[in-house]
Amino acid sequence: MTEKELMKKWFAAVKGTGFIAKGSIRQYKRNCGKKSCPKCASGERHLTYQMTYYKDGRQHSRYVGPTQIEEFRQAIANGRKLEELMVDFGLEYLKILKKQAKEN
Ligand SMILES: [Zn+2]
Repeated sequence: MTEKELMKKWFAAVKGTGFIAKGSIRQYKRNCGKKSCPKCASGERHLTYQMTYYKDGRQHSRYVGPTQIEEFRQAIANGRKLEELMVDFGLEYLKILKKQAKEN
């Protein structure tokens, strides 16, 4: 494979990945704070999703709403797929560089 072919392969792979995100989703139960809430009174409470991610060496988090959770989970899965593609891309690129070193 040439460098040009590898780039072409990379762009095609990225194009097919869709929306991506990096982080992990954690689910927990919380009290809503309303005194008359039957869910909280029964101890069932409310299912809540939180996305945690690292940036600049620090951990951050964001609330993810129940209507966003399915699509956002998919984006995280797509992000992991992209990371696998990066590993494959790097290995292929290294092969090309080694081949070039032999030719010169
Ligand atoms: Zn409640």
